[in-house]
Amino acid sequence: MDAEHYASSIRNGKVANYLKTGKALGYKFDYASIVKAPALLKEIAKDKAKKEGERCPVCLVSISEFDNDSIEALPCGHVICKDDLATLEASDNPSLRVCPICRGPLH
Ligand SMILES: [Zn+2]
Ligand SMILES: [Zn+2]
Repeated sequence: MDAEHYASSIRNGKVANYLKTGKALGYKFDYASIVKAPALLKEIAKDKAKKEGERCPVCLVSISEFDNDSIEALPCGHVICKDDLATLEASDNPSLRVCPICRGPLH
């Protein structure tokens, strides 16, 4: 069983997809790396967003213009700048405290 199949058996297809993306970006995976998958997957999502020229869905600044500490990958894999994430988190309106793209949870 390779790392992708292992991930899909313990988590879900989304994780396996990220691992596939990560491999394409040159990440090397072993079973130990999957244990810390959530943090690793966020780094992969950030790299993917940069590589694909994505923009923050709120301020529309190119993700590649931020350093990795200034952006956050949401559980859905969409990437947003931390300033805008903080604004969404602080919103009084629960319907705004979601991913601006897919309306998935922020955490
Ligand atoms: Zn932004
Ligand atoms: Zn999303």
